[in-house]
Amino acid sequence: MEKRVYIETYGCQMNEHDTERILRLLEGSHYLETKDAQEADFILINTCSVREKPEHKVYSALGRFKWLKEKKGAVIGVAGCVAQQEGVRLLDRVPYLDLVIGTHAIPMLPQLLQKMEVSGERVCETGFDSAGDYLKAVLPRAPVGKVRSYVTIMQGCDHFCSFCIVPYVRGREQSRPSREIIEEVERLVEMGVKEVCLLGQNVNGYGKGLKEEIRFSELLRRINNIDGLDRIRFTTSHPRDLSDELMQAYSNPSKLCEHIHLPFQSGSDKILQAMHRGYTKDSYLEKIDRLRKICPLISITADVIVGFPGEGEKDFEETLDLIQKVRFDDLFSFKYSPRKGTRAAQFTDQVEEKVKQERLSVLQKIQREITLQKNQEWEGRLEEILVEGRSKQSLQDMAGRTRSNKIVNFEGDLSLVGKLIPVGITKAYPHSLRGGILGSGFTCSPQCLLCRNG
Ligand code: SAM
Ligand code: SF4
Repeated sequence: MEKRVYIETYGCQMNEHDTERILRLLEGSHYLETKDAQEADFILINTCSVREKPEHKVYSALGRFKWLKEKKGAVIGVAGCVAQQEGVRLLDRVPYLDLVIGTHAIPMLPQLLQKMEVSGERVCETGFDSAGDYLKAVLPRAPVGKVRSYVTIMQGCDHFCSFCIVPYVRGREQSRPSREIIEEVERLVEMGVKEVCLLGQNVNGYGKGLKEEIRFSELLRRINNIDGLDRIRFTTSHPRDLSDELMQAYSNPSKLCEHIHLPFQSGSDKILQAMHRGYTKDSYLEKIDRLRKICPLISITADVIVGFPGEGEKDFEETLDLIQKVRFDDLFSFKYSPRKGTRAAQFTDQVEEKVKQERLSVLQKIQREITLQKNQEWEGRLEEILVEGRSKQSLQDMAGRTRSNKIVNFEGDLSLVGKLIPVGITKAYPHSLRGGILGSGFTCSPQCLLCRNG
């Protein structure tokens, strides 16, 4: 008999991708996705514990679903980083919770649900899988109905930055054999996917521990050869491990899009050292210069943390200085959030919440202006867009992405979905661009890149 599953996802792309994998796994056990929790037989909260805010959401979500357990007998579960970290404590704390499933246990979910049905017992599974089988692809059974897809190439992290919970909840770095990755991408392409984003906490570390000798740049080359695939992206790379070989991958025209996400976290050498990041402000800036020499049009985004323990005004100014020097296309900025079990949570010189908030507001205001100015640089250019579907802003419009990862909304129809088309950029906004298909009133400017390149 068919059942319904409702999944609420918090946090990063890794979690979003895990949710996709869970849905594909459950399809095989006759669970179909529902977007309405009230119809669900199984409710799963897929969580993130990188910062405190998403972690708190788990408890409020559990509170919201309690009545569905009481009234309808729905099975309620928690997956992801909070599940991994809290384990059986979650079951103790929340009496109506049935299932806790850690980051490496996802492939076991169908069996665990079956076991619970038979025994009626509550289950907690948070063991780490050192063989790496948990990374195996869960392939789609039918066309995925999407133009873009994530593909995990490695998981876990060996860096142990002093603020970060990831190595504790996702385990040590483990890479997937290249053959498995290639097969997954080929299958996705058959299912209509045109763009893949290769996922890992530190993609530059790809290949470590595998029997085959392969580095990330070689994996990129192999994926580039897959027929029918139009675009490749990846996230995230650690500045310390960003090799010259990988930077050179941006030098030749290929499917690799001109965008890199390169978190810097702080502009102060003192704070970078306390974070255990393994680079300095200058060495980060040198890498950015080198990337821009290799690929002048590369769009650069990053993550930054304000209010790390010991961060004084001077350190914060160094961060603002770095932001102004690089002029990122966009920034993901966070207040430092102490994570239990990490070294920085024990540091005695914690920064007051009020100061963190003030610094975040100052930084975000500066970045908002830079982002808009960077977007305005695209006005008047003709850009290649991969059309993804209807615009979130208006039902009459379609939306797609430039190679530099900027969202473009334009007038069009559904027949364009999955196609690469030239679109003229007519207006820049803080979070997106407005465009027009050539011939529908758009004429390009002398800065137009496609025209200049012939
Ligand atoms: N591996 C990537 C790197 O090192 O560049 C980052 C992955 S991490 C899961 C995503 C982002 O969350 C980090 O870049 C950092 O800015 C933020 N983050 C991680 N731990 C944090 C904490 N304790 N407080 C605030 N932000 C945090
Ligand atoms: Fe966390 Fe990234 Fe540092 Fe790894 S490299 S510990 S994922 S911040």
